[in-house]
Amino acid sequence: MSLFSNPVVVDLLARYRPIAAMGYSSALLEWDLEINMPEAGAAARGKVRAELSLLSQKMALDLAGLVEKADNQKTLNDAEKGIVRVIKRELDFYRKIPPKLIEELQRATAEASIPWREARAKSDFARFQPHLETITELKRKQAEYLDPSTQPYNALLDLPEEGLRMEDLDRIFQQLVPALKRILAKTLSSGHFPEKHPLEEVDYDVPSLKQANKEILSLLDMPSKRFRQDVSTHPFSTRISGDDVRITTRYEPKDFRASTFGLIHECGHALYELQVDHELDLTPTGTGVSSGIHESQSRFWENVVGRSRQFTPLVYPLLKKNLSFLDKYSVDQVYAYFNTVRPSLIRVEADEVTYNFHIAMRYELEKKLLEGKVNVSELPSVWNDMIEEYVGKRPPNDAEGVLQDVHWSWGQYAIFPSYSLGNVVAGMLWKMLSKQGLLPVKDAKSLITLKAWLAENLHKPGATYAPKILLTRVFGTGYDPSGLVSYLENKYLSMS
Ligand code: MG
Repeated sequence: MSLFSNPVVVDLLARYRPIAAMGYSSALLEWDLEINMPEAGAAARGKVRAELSLLSQKMALDLAGLVEKADNQKTLNDAEKGIVRVIKRELDFYRKIPPKLIEELQRATAEASIPWREARAKSDFARFQPHLETITELKRKQAEYLDPSTQPYNALLDLPEEGLRMEDLDRIFQQLVPALKRILAKTLSSGHFPEKHPLEEVDYDVPSLKQANKEILSLLDMPSKRFRQDVSTHPFSTRISGDDVRITTRYEPKDFRASTFGLIHECGHALYELQVDHELDLTPTGTGVSSGIHESQSRFWENVVGRSRQFTPLVYPLLKKNLSFLDKYSVDQVYAYFNTVRPSLIRVEADEVTYNFHIAMRYELEKKLLEGKVNVSELPSVWNDMIEEYVGKRPPNDAEGVLQDVHWSWGQYAIFPSYSLGNVVAGMLWKMLSKQGLLPVKDAKSLITLKAWLAENLHKPGATYAPKILLTRVFGTGYDPSGLVSYLENKYLSMS
């Protein structure tokens, strides 16, 4: 039986399909831009995507009457309510934000892209500063249009994480940060991890690691007919359709684990999209529900499964077969290398114990920036003071400080907390699935059982339920950091 039977919703879905088709096209154009497009094609591609997005906005706004009618139906099932909720959110956004502001933001972020790259390469914040000032001002305006009754951070936070408020994040970080500091202090004092691991310094042969990664994709049983993998500087995953999900991997010829765990991370994102119910294809709920829930899937596979003591013996032979320098290392040594804890200045290099410090710090700083308590010109020094508090080191230059992340140049504010939410939910999954005997993953059979559980409980509904509702359905509670704390204690305090 179809998920959708209410005639008004069925009608709405039929009229939404062209909008979904444009989303499909735009995703493909964006993927092509990253992977295949000749450089000079960028300007035309930008214009075409802007036109498509204007057209789909217009088409969505034309649905307003029908959406209202659907919203007034008395007997909608969950799938139908989800459809109405997501389209309403979309319309609400278009109604509140003047097209002129969308255009200004698009222009400002397009113009900031090269200055940010140059500024980072030369560690010259002044090169990026005027662009960041413009973008910050536009984001404040956007927040004001979205919800003038609340702090700007709350208004922007709702975009990636429907229903999430600053009080949720304050509570999560207040619980998480002291616990992580305690775990870090104990882990470091154990002396278990060397200052520098010899494997970090080994140059690897890219084609050999590509072969190993290919075999890891088979180990993970990624469906080769519905999935592809390419190479890009910044790894990402994208859904074109429910049977066409694409990821990328990077190869910087040192520290092979960054590439392999990046691959497993993106597979987690891809698996979520691949396991959304096919009945939701070309509907507004046919995709992952939020950045945080998406990130929970990637972090879960990367860390909870991928870096576990029981999974390492499955990955290790595939790596060793292709990277001969691993012959000298035992599986225990490689496991320790995969899980080295060492405070770092760079977020993307951070280990599981210290990663959330980078997010807690960005969250505090972004709040101050949006509220005007810190000016853009003061960001470099405030950044350095704040990160030193958490990791005990001060960035020697802005490239290793305030200029390290691309997000602000893209106009993405209030998105960093999604990474910590991802870790929190991955910890909740660890706690629940360990109790149920579904973790650890130690062979092909347990992998299949785990995927089936995730499909049934988390992936299938797509965006049908808002994030907090989805969590309550699965775990009986909203974001609860205690699972992550127990997971880290269990893993790192037993190592030392
Ligand atoms: Mg990710």
